[in-house]
Amino acid sequence: MVKKAAVVGAGISGLYACLLLEQHGFSVDLYERSDSIGGRMKTEKQSGFILDHGFHVLQTGYPLASKVLDYQAMGCLAFEPGAQIIRPDGKRPKIWQFTDPFRRPIKGVLGAFSLFTSPLNLLRVGLLRIKLARTKDSDLFQKKSQTTLDYLQSKGFSQSFIERFFTPLFGGIFLETELRTDSRMFDFVFKNMSRGSMVLPKNGIAACPQQIFDRLTKTALKLNSNISIIDETKLSNGDEVLQYDLVVKAFASDKSNLTRGVWTLHFAAPKSPLKGKYIMLNSTLKSARNLISHLAVPSDIQPNYAPSNQSLVTVTVVEEDAKKQGLSTIEAVKSSVIKELLQWFPDQVQDWRVLDVQYIEAALPELSFADFDDFSKASDDYSCGDSTYHGSVEGALLSAQRVIDNFLKKGAQG
Ligand SMILES: Cc1cc2nc3c(=O)[nH]c(=O)nc-3n(C[C@H](O)[C@H](O)[C@H](O)COP(=O)(O)OP(=O)(O)OC[C@H]3O[C@@H](n4cnc5c(N)ncnc54)[C@H](O)[C@@H]3O)c2cc1C
Repeated sequence: MVKKAAVVGAGISGLYACLLLEQHGFSVDLYERSDSIGGRMKTEKQSGFILDHGFHVLQTGYPLASKVLDYQAMGCLAFEPGAQIIRPDGKRPKIWQFTDPFRRPIKGVLGAFSLFTSPLNLLRVGLLRIKLARTKDSDLFQKKSQTTLDYLQSKGFSQSFIERFFTPLFGGIFLETELRTDSRMFDFVFKNMSRGSMVLPKNGIAACPQQIFDRLTKTALKLNSNISIIDETKLSNGDEVLQYDLVVKAFASDKSNLTRGVWTLHFAAPKSPLKGKYIMLNSTLKSARNLISHLAVPSDIQPNYAPSNQSLVTVTVVEEDAKKQGLSTIEAVKSSVIKELLQWFPDQVQDWRVLDVQYIEAALPELSFADFDDFSKASDDYSCGDSTYHGSVEGALLSAQRVIDNFLKKGAQG
């Protein structure tokens, strides 16, 4: 007899759970509360622009994601390894380029002499990179727990380098700029950034969940569903109880740890403000109590993101930073960001047009040190999703794999 499973939540973790269940002979009912699949990996089209819901990239260094996803089929194109760093105070902003010396040796060496920071900090970045490359992924999370800030200080990085480089970069990734996130997550992300590329799919980030969905052959998608989970084998749709061999919960409930938020502002610009396919980090985020963590021009990497002769500029503001300045409305965040941008690109910003201001309240989970302690732990209620693992596409996929593995293991034990 065909085994029947239900997956509740059609984000990337739920979709991957469906794929794994199909591979183990299940037919699946996939229940999604909203009217589309993809969860937080959504993309909209607007006047010829492709707008992702929040600045969102794929890391080809993530081991499971690179097995599950076909980056070539999605037409992915990569950012240059490294970053540009802006100091917008003063009459003319100063911009440095930091190129990854391991992948762009000549540019990287030139970058090291750019006087952005002491060569000692750059040497420490190199040493950390080598050390992490030699550490097995499975050992990364066995280390002692501490905040990313304490960890970077213990590695000898100067406070100014931490504030000018690591804070805007990892603040924009972790969506918190205190660097309180577990240092094991820092190591994991840093290692994966070093060994792979940061890429964007041709048709936006939603191509990623869509690609998994397109592989499903024994899954019935039920959008706009209003069902509740009774236990690991039963659902209720209000009128009746639905029985399955397994029910997987692939969403975070409203009162979950999904508490880190972000503001994303998309602008249409007549030309790109950046030279090179880099992300631009704000070195004065901390010292000048600025809002913008980083800025990117997705259409420089993936021309499809904007109509020809135009550029898409995307700005990231961590919600906590906006809150600290008492900014909580679209208008307030927008006008403060534009004020900052006028210092960055004084001759250009007046020609930019706001396409969208997105507020994503439940963007990433706030995880404790204990959450990172043991990723092999079984979840009794068969819950997956990044909020049960760690906040990334890789974490979401791993969480689904863990749930299905645990279920199959239990079955094998009788
Ligand atoms: C702005 C932003 C930028 C990001 N950038 C990156 C990045 O660059 N790189 C990276 O690796 N990760 C990034 N992430 C994280 C990544 O997007 C998430 O880790 C991943 O999408 C989480 O997938 P999920 O399946 O766990 O959850 P979700 O995507 O949240 O999916 C849950 C699904 O369940 C549905 N649902 C909720 N309640 C119910 C219910 N009661 N019944 C039925 N369905 C329900 C929801 O509608 C949703 O579709 C970013 C996230 C955000 C928000």
